[in-house]
Amino acid sequence: MPDSTVRIGLVLPDVMGTYGDGGNALVLRQRLLMRGIDAEIVQITLKDPVPESLDLYTLGGAEDYAQRLATRHLTRYPGLQKAAERGAPVLAICAAIQVLGHWYETSTGEKVDGISMFDVTTTPQETRAIGEVSTHPLLEGLTEPLTGFENHRGGTALGSDASPLARVRSGVGNGAGEPVEGVVQGSVIGTYMHGPVLARNPQLADLLLERAIGESLAPLELDEVAQLRRERLRG
Ligand code: GLN
Repeated sequence: MPDSTVRIGLVLPDVMGTYGDGGNALVLRQRLLMRGIDAEIVQITLKDPVPESLDLYTLGGAEDYAQRLATRHLTRYPGLQKAAERGAPVLAICAAIQVLGHWYETSTGEKVDGISMFDVTTTPQETRAIGEVSTHPLLEGLTEPLTGFENHRGGTALGSDASPLARVRSGVGNGAGEPVEGVVQGSVIGTYMHGPVLARNPQLADLLLERAIGESLAPLELDEVAQLRRERLRG
């Protein structure tokens, strides 16, 4: 058990956090508290430099203009990049994938440099991807299907240093090239899934927590609940 409070960074909730993505930080904290591990959420807004010393980080989705403000802030204060370099887990949702890539093109055709934590690039697609997405995970340690709600116009292409998080069963996912969803590069995981994704996919929440504290965690969900969930997804 960690001997100090686990500190969860909620990065730029003032500009990034569509569809309640800030809920991911609440889920992470709650799952630690339920196991008797102290945890707190540290909100990092546009008024704050980004600290590099937190145990894990989450960033939510955003509309194009808000996304631009976040990109500028993360470029100016590279705490997130430094934390990822030392292996701190980072979860990036939707627009945050795009911001963490090399560059993204907005829906008005403007090309904006990202912070190059992900070897990906994003360009607007003909049609906006909106709706439920259901996938098979490709990341070791995940066995349950990953599901969420997607709403994005950007399509993200993966370079050779980035791997997909999951294979798409239904829905769009990254929307450029192969039918895959999300990005994994080192300790950084990206997904287009809102939900919030960690409320819908507790196994992903525990994977991030185990990586952050360097210990395995006993399951919280009853076996019957996990079983019901699998049956529902199959049906
Ligand atoms: N603005 C981005 C897009 O449409 C991201 C949207 C989002 O985060 N929901 O691709």
